[in-house]
Amino acid sequence: MPNTRGYKDKPTGRGSEDCCSFCGAKRSDVPILFQGVDGANICSNCVERAHEMLAESKAAARHGKHPELKMEELLKPQQIKEFLDQYVIGQDDAKRYMSVAVYNHYKRLLSRDSARGAAKDGGGGKADDVEIDKSNIVLVGPTGTGKTLMARTIARLLKVPFTIVDATVLTEAGYVGEDVESILTRLLQVADYDVAAAERGIVFIDEIDKIARKSDNPSITRDVSGEGVQQALLKILEGTVVNVPPQGGRKHPDQKFIQVNTKDILFICGGAFDGIEKKIAQRLNTRAIGYGVQGTSSIDRNNLMKYIMPQDLKSYGLIPELVGRLPVLTYMQPLTKQALRSILTEPRNAIVKQYERLFAMDGVELHFDDEVLDYIVDKADEYKLGARGLRSICEAVMIDAMYDVPSSGEARFDVTLPYAKNKIEGANFLEMKRVG
Ligand code: ADP
Repeated sequence: MPNTRGYKDKPTGRGSEDCCSFCGAKRSDVPILFQGVDGANICSNCVERAHEMLAESKAAARHGKHPELKMEELLKPQQIKEFLDQYVIGQDDAKRYMSVAVYNHYKRLLSRDSARGAAKDGGGGKADDVEIDKSNIVLVGPTGTGKTLMARTIARLLKVPFTIVDATVLTEAGYVGEDVESILTRLLQVADYDVAAAERGIVFIDEIDKIARKSDNPSITRDVSGEGVQQALLKILEGTVVNVPPQGGRKHPDQKFIQVNTKDILFICGGAFDGIEKKIAQRLNTRAIGYGVQGTSSIDRNNLMKYIMPQDLKSYGLIPELVGRLPVLTYMQPLTKQALRSILTEPRNAIVKQYERLFAMDGVELHFDDEVLDYIVDKADEYKLGARGLRSICEAVMIDAMYDVPSSGEARFDVTLPYAKNKIEGANFLEMKRVG
């Protein structure tokens, strides 16, 4: 019999059978008895029980990681935007939409919680029957204008699990690629497999335009990464219980699934929608002719994106039901030269600040002349490299300095215009980019 401490007294005498030091079971009564030092043993039943207890305590600890939302602690949309301003240059409209969407997502979760609480209290609390609808967002704008950056920045201050997934890898079930359900795998992973937390999370689906229908007539060729994927995505966006493969990838029959309800998950979709301006222009022209609502002359032809409407997404190849599930539509402006210039120096982790930090770690003060920064912007603009190009141009300018300066013993390094020109033009860097 086990004693009060839960383990068996040490076996005595040569004839006595070994037993588990924890539960006292005899070797003959258990599948395996592991032997330790000084006659201590543990049986496989106790190992399994210990494993379960560990898993339970880890799950409890994880639960604490996703604290409850409290209305008074939530950042207001203006505060969210101020936070975004520290990292993302310009894009005011998109920032406002995103801030409101995130704030409303929290409020929606809170109102559900209180309704549930009231229902639990037997209706004693006040549960009104107004249910706040989910407002999934679609963010349209040229590549390199900060869509992903915006999503990543929002993620820094979120109190709910957040993940970014790429729509390009998604294909219809049965084809090479990933099932649509796998986007929820990522969310589960960031939530440490805490299903309740994941069910309140936010998913950013990048490159949503890549699953647009390729032609108006879907029957001409199989469109495995287009309409079928949109249909599958539609269900998830609407809110349904999804069988999620815990490790992602393709579903297979022997796999165990985790069930996730997507009713309260907020989806933000981003895409470049290359060429959508044409669809917008077509619509604007038709409208101007058809109804004479507005003279086409008052339209800002250089920035058609700001007139984007849900029907343009349909003309582009998203199915109407999917567009209907993305009620908040906003856009990112193409970056002006002035914006590119600000991106170099102003954000909290601006590229220039990053180089300064790298050099400071070697005790070297780094200084960029103003005309160098203008030059970098000019080149990025000239070669249509956008904000993404700024980094690679800076890298080409700085690589030799980063190689030499740490061993040079210098206390200061000045990047001058002739130096930068020499590195860029000398290395034929931009010609190579052009060819690439
Ligand atoms: P997108 O997702 O729209 O293609 P990204 O967000 O990936 O573009 O932008 C690429 C990089 O360009 C970012 O990592 C960032 O350094 C820079 N960038 C782009 N737009 C902005 C912006 N508006 N403000 C600050 N940096 C930006």
